[in-house]
Amino acid sequence: MKDYVVDDIKNVLRPRLGDDVPLLLFRILRIIGMRSILGETSGATLYMMGKRVGNMLPAATMDEFAKTLQDLKIGIPETRIVDEDHINVRLYECITCAGFGYTGEMFCDMESGIIAGLLENVQGKKAKSTQTKSWSAGYEYCEFEVFLY
Ligand SMILES: [Zn+2]
Repeated sequence: MKDYVVDDIKNVLRPRLGDDVPLLLFRILRIIGMRSILGETSGATLYMMGKRVGNMLPAATMDEFAKTLQDLKIGIPETRIVDEDHINVRLYECITCAGFGYTGEMFCDMESGIIAGLLENVQGKKAKSTQTKSWSAGYEYCEFEVFLY
C-alpha cells in the first residue's frame, strides 16, 4: 500500500463543486463513521492519525502553528506557554465539537493529535497532548494541555 503525502493529494479538479465540503459531511465521517468502525479504540487511533497529519503540515513558529490550524479551518487557537515544557491551547470554533450539546464525553482526539504533531515541528521536541475541555463537556471552546519531552 502506497504512503501518500500531502503533495500527492492536493490537486483538486472539481470545476462545479470546488474544493470545499460541508462541515456536516466531515462530522458524519469523523464522529459517526470513524467511531462506529473503530469502537473503543477510536480515541487512540484518531490521536495517532492526527499526530502524523500534524507532523506533515508546515509549522516552524508559533505563528505558523496558529495559521495552519486556521487555514485548514480546524479551529482558531489561543496558546499560553505555562512553562518551557507545557503549552496550553484553547481551540475556538473546533472543527469537530463547536456547537455540540452536552454529552459529558470528549472526542476531539484527532485535533489533539494534530496540535501535538504541529507543536513537535515548532518546538523540535516530542509532544503529548491531552484534551481537557470541549463543547460536549459544557464549554464553548476546546482545550488541550500539551507537554513537551
Ligand atoms: Zn473540539
